[in-house]
Amino acid sequence: MNILQIMVNGFDKNFTYLIIGKNNCGFLIDPTGDLKTIENEIKKNNVNITYQLVTHAHPDHNELVDYFKEKGVKLVTFNELKNNPEFEICEIKIKTIFTPGHTKDSRCYLIENNLFSGDTLFTSGVGTTAYGGDDKDLEDSLNLLETLDKKIMLWPGHLYGKEKRELGEALMRVHKKPSEEMLNEIKRKVIEYEKFIKTKKN
Ligand SMILES: [Zn+2]
Repeated sequence: MNILQIMVNGFDKNFTYLIIGKNNCGFLIDPTGDLKTIENEIKKNNVNITYQLVTHAHPDHNELVDYFKEKGVKLVTFNELKNNPEFEICEIKIKTIFTPGHTKDSRCYLIENNLFSGDTLFTSGVGTTAYGGDDKDLEDSLNLLETLDKKIMLWPGHLYGKEKRELGEALMRVHKKPSEEMLNEIKRKVIEYEKFIKTKKN
């Protein structure tokens, strides 16, 4: 399997992914942005594109879906994924991990040791929940990603920071609310500090 990460610009430094399996069989993840750049990669690698996947329904991730549909490239829909989250394209096993939060339909694709995360998780930070998302869902989804192997390579939907990063490192960079335990620890330190200041004054 070969992963091509294509900088297609689009709305804001978007990535389209071209995944190539045996016998020049390939598929696209988030076909969007600059069509010429994608077509050049397809031509250069002599790939026969059979399917396209999207990570969520925001327009900056699927601008070119209709174009490729017209070329006979089948889109795997959200409903199909719901019914059949694990499937194969080009003899490559793909596992859908549903990660609502950035949007209700956000999902990541786990392919071997690679996670294609769309706008759920970037190499530094997460996608906003302001456009059809939900903070609590996002927190649950990040906790779900925490259960995966930290060494998995994260391939995000936008170039925000780095092109890719190990999942464990990316998750560490997500700003999380401190736990109850940590809040108590901070409180304890503040009280200690106040006491210390008092003794200095006396
Ligand atoms: Zn988005």
